Amino acid sequence: ETEIPEDHPRYASLVTRHRIEAGVEKGITSKQGLIAQGRGEAFDYLLGERTLPSADAAARAAAATLLLAERPVISVNGNVAALAPSETVDLAAAVDADLEVNLFNHTDERVRRIADHLREHGADEVKGLAGDGEIPGLDHARGVVDADGIEAADVVVVPLEDGDRAAALDAMGKTEIVIDLNPGSRSPRTADVPIIDNLIRAVPNVAAHARDLADAMPEELRGIVDEFDAAAALDAAEAAIREGSFADADGS
Ligand code: ATP
Ligand code: MG
Repeated sequence: ETEIPEDHPRYASLVTRHRIEAGVEKGITSKQGLIAQGRGEAFDYLLGERTLPSADAAARAAAATLLLAERPVISVNGNVAALAPSETVDLAAAVDADLEVNLFNHTDERVRRIADHLREHGADEVKGLAGDGEIPGLDHARGVVDADGIEAADVVVVPLEDGDRAAALDAMGKTEIVIDLNPGSRSPRTADVPIIDNLIRAVPNVAAHARDLADAMPEELRGIVDEFDAAAALDAAEAAIREGSFADADGS
């Protein structure tokens, strides 16, 4: 998909940038999404561009949470759609969740394009166009959701969610799984399960854990959820950044 040589030391990062750029060109990613990508890259560099053991534990807790959920929904924005469309569709299948396009800068046109893009990557039904529900406490444009999607969900996966919306979803009583590279951002700090990892690595990792746990009894799943410590996961990511694990990332 790119002309970047695979042995380039920053291969993964360059491929990611290219996908986001292509997403903007296709009209699925917003210009704001480019800025979010830049922030994400900086944190991924500081984390050593790898999945920390604490993030892997969070991914397993997220998988258990999703398998126990009655109405799980995965929220998809322009960055998620550009970076990991097949992986996101696959996660929805692994945990039997709905996919809902939910944009911070909402336009019907962009919702439609993202829904089409997900269908091209194997999704059946994609929610987000009805817009007949709301997240209370946000101004209208920011709070539009589907009544039978995010509004009715018990568990929501929100990769790269904005802090205000994460707080408003929390106030609605949702169990929130947030994927975000910045352990200091409000959204992961609001989450029941914060996964401090690149969504490119985290989304398939949650799906892999879900498949591994597919035959687990509910008590075992509840045990995994109860054992998970959100504050400890945030602290572990922050400690990894402070300890300078990034020095290993490019061999320096
Ligand atoms: P707030 O505190 O309100 O959440 P913020 O500074 O986090 O504010 P956002 O708009 O939420 O502002 O910033 C985008 C977030 O998305 C950043 O925290 C960034 O680390 C994260 N991010 C960007 N790309 C990725 C990615 N590929 N995987 C995971 N997280 C990402
Ligand atoms: Mg944030």
